[in-house]
Amino acid sequence: AQNSAHDIGAARRIVTRLFEEAGLESPSLDARLLIGHALSLDHTALAIASDRALTQGERDTIAEFVARRLKGEPVARIVGEKEFWGLPFKLSPAALVPRPDTETLVEAALAAVDAGKRRDDRLMIADLGVGSGAILLALLHELPNAFGIGTDRSSEAIATARSNAAALGLSSRAAFAMMDFGAGLGGGFDIVVSNPPYIASADIASLSRDVREHDPRLALDGGADGLNAYRAIARQAPDLLRGDGAMIVEIGLGQAGDIRTIFETSGALEITASRDDLAGIARALTFRRRP
Ligand code: GLN
Repeated sequence: AQNSAHDIGAARRIVTRLFEEAGLESPSLDARLLIGHALSLDHTALAIASDRALTQGERDTIAEFVARRLKGEPVARIVGEKEFWGLPFKLSPAALVPRPDTETLVEAALAAVDAGKRRDDRLMIADLGVGSGAILLALLHELPNAFGIGTDRSSEAIATARSNAAALGLSSRAAFAMMDFGAGLGGGFDIVVSNPPYIASADIASLSRDVREHDPRLALDGGADGLNAYRAIARQAPDLLRGDGAMIVEIGLGQAGDIRTIFETSGALEITASRDDLAGIARALTFRRRP
């Protein structure tokens, strides 16, 4: 009876109510996105078609998406796409869903460019652990003459990043390679960015269910203290960066001090900026070579 809605408007009301009762954070948004995806209609088209009757097949598809959402699957995973930096990204099971907080890293990288170069310079960018490509492709979108290389340990993530590059018209300026962070990448980069795994292994179990069950462990697990990836990246930093290059990394809550020490000791870099996310938490650190 719950799924017997015969038109789009009624379906939206019923699904929103179900999501409310289940205690979801954004019931009406989730209902709109899932129903829109089931019917291949965007926000406006959905509103205009509010009185249109649903076919049995459409109702079945909506019911399936609703059941998955109620079992804890994030909307982005169900629709297979997520917006980041105003751009659409296809998702891979082998990569994180791009997070709004990670836009802080893009802002920090652009600020590092602005500190000594022009946005239309021929910049070389590397993104270590590129995942679905969100960070690298947002940067290439903003820096019209930049060329970027994204690396990942997952060939599946690389395939998704490559297809996102193509969909955004950035293929001619983006390359991808399967490797551990920047090992074997050579040097000469103006900007190196990374959002590496930074959750301590023991803390993975206490992450929210949508993250724990639907984001890949490879992209989350930073080892015993969560900092293993930074140790690896810091060791590679001197080889990767140009003399005036900048390395910008995303960090987790409370990790700024330890990560600064890692980059200053094993990377021979100095910290030049720290940028907070929307919640006021230090989220992106910028390092440069010591003068
Ligand atoms: N910010 C992510 C989370 O807390 C973790 C991402 C990462 O480890 N790089 O879910």
